[in-house]
Amino acid sequence: MIIDRREIERMLAAEGEAMQELFARAAAVRDETVGPVLYLRGLIEYSNICRKNCLYCGIRRENRSVARYRLTPDEVIAAARYAGERRFGSVVLQGGEITTEDHIACIESLVVRIKSLFPASPLGVTLSFGEQTEATYRRWFRAGAHRYLLRIESSSERLYRSIHPDDGLHRYEERLRALRALRRVGYQVGTGVMIGLPGQTLADLADDIVFMRDMDIDMCGMGPYVEAEGTPLVERCGPPPERDYRLAMALKMIAVLRLAMPDINIAAATALSSLSPDGRLDAVRCGANVVMPNLTPRRGKEAYRLYDDKSSAIDSRLLCERIGWGEWGDSLRFGKKNK
Ligand code: SF4
Repeated sequence: MIIDRREIERMLAAEGEAMQELFARAAAVRDETVGPVLYLRGLIEYSNICRKNCLYCGIRRENRSVARYRLTPDEVIAAARYAGERRFGSVVLQGGEITTEDHIACIESLVVRIKSLFPASPLGVTLSFGEQTEATYRRWFRAGAHRYLLRIESSSERLYRSIHPDDGLHRYEERLRALRALRRVGYQVGTGVMIGLPGQTLADLADDIVFMRDMDIDMCGMGPYVEAEGTPLVERCGPPPERDYRLAMALKMIAVLRLAMPDINIAAATALSSLSPDGRLDAVRCGANVVMPNLTPRRGKEAYRLYDDKSSAIDSRLLCERIGWGEWGDSLRFGKKNK
């Protein structure tokens, strides 16, 4: 059943009992469609060095208060080995956007090494390293990565422009180009948006849901906007909505997306835990089916601050859910499309 845009907006406006009903419905649809199983992805934050300068991001190029780091290949492999030994099934290798040949080759060789760690049951590998050329995406795909996360942040071109510098490097069309390239190469494609941006309306968020459906994405990682020290977003765009609003709206977005796209993977984003200790647990209760325990070694974890109050610990209550131990937990939607 296709949910029309007006209905999406109506659901996003739900409060009180209607909101709780929405959450319960979304969780039931998740259980019936992709199953009542939570998949783990060990998150490895490879580097906080980035060529970009997104106004909201704590590791933006011009934030001089951040100590920059890059994990050594051995540190990455040790974290991946830990994930495999604990039967997480998959890892996510994530970092700032760098487009040098040195960086591209390094990621390529890391993917090859991670894939060969457990020959009988190789780890699934998701990458998230921003906009790259199609040729680069292809190299990493051939090395063994099979999922890629590239958030659109906002499907509204107006909002996208307001939260990025106008310097030719942060172009909305370029983000769309990269998302389409990922699809052509053969990845399971993930995107996502920030919820609770200054100037963002309910209509914008409804459009985000429609955008993700029209793009036929396979997975989604989205969360509330959380302020980050040393970033100019609030100064330039004005204050965001209250934290409670952002948290509730992020949960509603997850629930509505689950109803609009029942067979995709939806992550319970870490940013949710920055606004509430129960944030990620609540996301699972309203339709999410993926969590990403952070396996970054301490020296990186502390410097990889995309936003403030970043919580990295995995809530042990999440582990009370049925976990897909040792499984890749691929997108059901992707599987159906590529039968
Ligand atoms: S959001 Fe991504 S691309 Fe933008 S500055 Fe942060 S790490 Fe770099």
